[in-house]
Amino acid sequence: MSKIQETVLEINLAHLTHNFNYLKNKVSSNVKMLAVVKASGYGSDASIIAKHLEKIGADYFAVAYVSEGVILRESGVKLPILVLHPQPVNFKKLIEYNLEPSLYSLRVLNQFIETASILNQKEYPVHIKFNTGLNRIGFSKNELGIILDTLSQTQAIKPIALLSHLAASEDSNEKEFTIQQIDAFKKIADTMIKKVGYPLTLHQSNTSGILNYPEAHFDMVRTGIGLYGYGNDVKYDTKLKPVASLKSIISQIHELEPGDSLGYNRAFIATDYTKTATIPIGHADGISRQYGNRKGFVTIQNKRAYIIGNVCMDMIMVDITDIDCEEGDEAIIFDANSGAAKIAENTGTISYELLTAISTRVKRIVVDDN
Ligand SMILES: *Cc1c(COP(=O)(O)O)cnc(C)c1O
Repeated sequence: MSKIQETVLEINLAHLTHNFNYLKNKVSSNVKMLAVVKASGYGSDASIIAKHLEKIGADYFAVAYVSEGVILRESGVKLPILVLHPQPVNFKKLIEYNLEPSLYSLRVLNQFIETASILNQKEYPVHIKFNTGLNRIGFSKNELGIILDTLSQTQAIKPIALLSHLAASEDSNEKEFTIQQIDAFKKIADTMIKKVGYPLTLHQSNTSGILNYPEAHFDMVRTGIGLYGYGNDVKYDTKLKPVASLKSIISQIHELEPGDSLGYNRAFIATDYTKTATIPIGHADGISRQYGNRKGFVTIQNKRAYIIGNVCMDMIMVDITDIDCEEGDEAIIFDANSGAAKIAENTGTISYELLTAISTRVKRIVVDDN
């Protein structure tokens, strides 16, 4: 492996392949795999991830917003792309880029029909989203009648799929609730399929649904976290491998005498001799100020070096008093051995938040080894 020379986010395609195949093996061969690549592929890089998954057999992609779907199309992604949470203001663009909307309320259904009609669309494919207990977005089952009425009056769009989202599939204490969600979705789907008179692709399961609820696999499963495998997150299967590693280097080493202070607002004052390393990554790169003052750490020469003082916009300083290291050495924020979940938990957050905050100025590099 080549030596790191600046802050980089390493994307490991071999691990991505491993995770994809691992999850694919958890579902029947006729169940389609939808890869959720929203939020830049959970902080990595949506285009790099999607283009690789397209090669190794993904069936579908999903993003949250239209702008994210546009990025994928512009980078050459050909597979269907579902937009989970589109806004009517972007419907024209959505159609222009051949994206598929998840329609979740009468307001957006009517607006989408209007836009599709203006653009002379015929049977434009849409997914209809039902709320079965998350109470975030989605039609209620009481709206089935009006949905069907509305659909019967237009040729511009055609539902090809129904979806719903599980609220607590990772939580074994919520089994009863999850099974209720699955049953509710089944009932809605049966009614809807009977009424439209042709099969619809049903999808409800996220990653923990894939692992914990085979009865929720239906025709397609949606996986985000499973692909990226922020692994050491205990909630998830530890056989998944982390795809993203955030690495930097030691820019400079300082030696502090008792009484010397470090960083803005002099938040750290040395009580003993302290050796510090300055690392070129800060809150503008996604290392929240919450990680300052010994909450967060990096790994240098296999040892933990805690962040001391306040996190700056472009830098952190870490305590290397007991670490034998020099300027230019690697400083790992997270990787396969020291997962993002470990650092995140020290500040009461989850790995997703740390990962999705990594800003675009951090260079993404691709590696393909195990
Ligand atoms: C983000 C998202 C997913 C992916 O969930 P994971 O638990 O990360 O696999 C699936 N479905 C919807 C609707 C989502 O918003």
